Amino acid sequence: GRARRGRTPSDRSVPLGKRPHRTGATWMDRSRWRIVNIGYSDVSNTEKGVTVPTSSTPLGEQVMGRGLIIAIDGPAGSGKSSVSRTVGADLYLDYLDTGAMYRALTWWLLETGVDLEDRDALAEAAKALPLEMGLSPHNPFFVVDNRNVTRLIRGPEVTSAVSKVAAHPDVRAALIDKQRAYIQAARDSGKGMIVEGRDTTTVVAPNADLRISSQDRKSVV
Ligand code: C5P
Repeated sequence: GRARRGRTPSDRSVPLGKRPHRTGATWMDRSRWRIVNIGYSDVSNTEKGVTVPTSSTPLGEQVMGRGLIIAIDGPAGSGKSSVSRTVGADLYLDYLDTGAMYRALTWWLLETGVDLEDRDALAEAAKALPLEMGLSPHNPFFVVDNRNVTRLIRGPEVTSAVSKVAAHPDVRAALIDKQRAYIQAARDSGKGMIVEGRDTTTVVAPNADLRISSQDRKSVV
């Protein structure tokens, strides 16, 4: 291989196979994608349990332009954001942080004084949310109603209210619609996307080419 195990960005950021890793189970839809090698690692793919030919072409170049969709979930603190952003950067994919969308909505509700007990108002706001997102894994940003809220949505007020907001089925339906539209656009354009969030592997993008979850210990298939 071209570099030692654990030393290259692509090796660190695609934690598949036997090596201890934070993201746990990985599923690959073999009917769509046969390539889940680890690029520059010196460990053979067979050893990793990945039955695809080794390639000297970086994985990012192999998947470029193919509209690859990756979904990744896992509990808070599992490192899924770091992994998503690193993998997204390595594979030249756009990056969609679904949790940040729930946070952006929550920020807007608090900012505009919507009663969080008013289900109809929450549902309306979720549909109308004037959200713009920066999808680069290098620099994700969130603008609500022309205000850059990238930092504000990580604040304590939003953090303590967001799960309550996200529990409403109508809110979820509205944001999932938006998420799916982004995913479809990324697939259609060939750009591809890594989509992060707890229901992304099951509900938002169950047909993703690659689904990664830290809640399951099955090895790579
Ligand atoms: O991942 P993050 O902590 O930013 O997510 C904020 C909150 O948004 C979560 O605690 C959860 O309540 C909600 N969420 C969700 N579904 C997602 C992503 C986040 O309900 N796909």
